[in-house]
Parts: sequence; C-alpha cells; structure tokens
Amino acid sequence: MAESDQAKWVEALRGAGLRLTRQRLAMVECFADDVSHPTAQALHARLCARFPGISVATVYNTLSALTAIGACRKLELGGASRFDPNVTPHDHAVCDDCGRVRDVQRARRAAATVPGFEVHRVERVFRGLCAQCARAARV
Ligand SMILES: [Zn+2]
Ligand SMILES: [Zn+2]
Repeated sequence: MAESDQAKWVEALRGAGLRLTRQRLAMVECFADDVSHPTAQALHARLCARFPGISVATVYNTLSALTAIGACRKLELGGASRFDPNVTPHDHAVCDDCGRVRDVQRARRAAATVPGFEVHRVERVFRGLCAQCARAARV
C-alpha cells in the first residue's frame, strides 16, 4: 500500500476521534491490501493472532470510521457486511457455495465507453460458483 494511502487512513482515524493504538495501526496494515473482502469477524480473527486482546468493537469502529470517510467500502452482499479497501469502482463476483468474493473490473470499461464520465459507484453483483466450487460440484 502506498505511503500516502496509509497516511490518509491514519488521518481518517484521527479525524473520527479514535486513538491511534498499535492495534488500530496493525489493522490498517492488515486490511489495506486485503483482497478477500473480509467481514469484521474475519478481520478480527486474523488480528487476534497478533493481538490476542483486540476486541470486535475496536475492529468495528475502526472499519466504520474508514467507511465514513470513503477510505474503504462496506458491501452488503447478503449475510454479514463485508469490507473492501479497494475504493476504485468495480463489480463483485460472489460464489454461492463458499461465499468467496472476487473483484470484477467492468467499471473501467464503462468509463472508457462514455469518455469523461466519472464512475462513483457500481452496484452490480455477479453470483454463481467460483472455479473451485464448480469443480467440486461436478465430481
Ligand atoms: Zn466457491
Ligand atoms: Zn471489491
């Protein structure tokens, strides 16, 4: 993750009145390059390995502060909310079986089709089976 992004996130947390604890900074680091679109629980489980005392509430309020300033996106794809550190406009492909969420970069094409159009949000969700689950379903 670029230094400037990290600075932006740290600034967001400060702006939200949250103390910049080691736990929160570790969370920013851990989540920034995460492509798995984790739920707060999943992120919490991962952080617990490094910070056994970290609370789910800390993870939640850090994520909502980052969401509030647009440093990450909250995704409602059914089930628990997922969080996406990639805020460039893109779609999602969701596996009905294992729940894996992958990025689909269609929005870039939309922007290219309508020159000058600035895409702010894309809501489309592709649902189906990921390659692994499709393979498993066939045997
Ligand atoms: Zn799957
Ligand atoms: Zn995404």
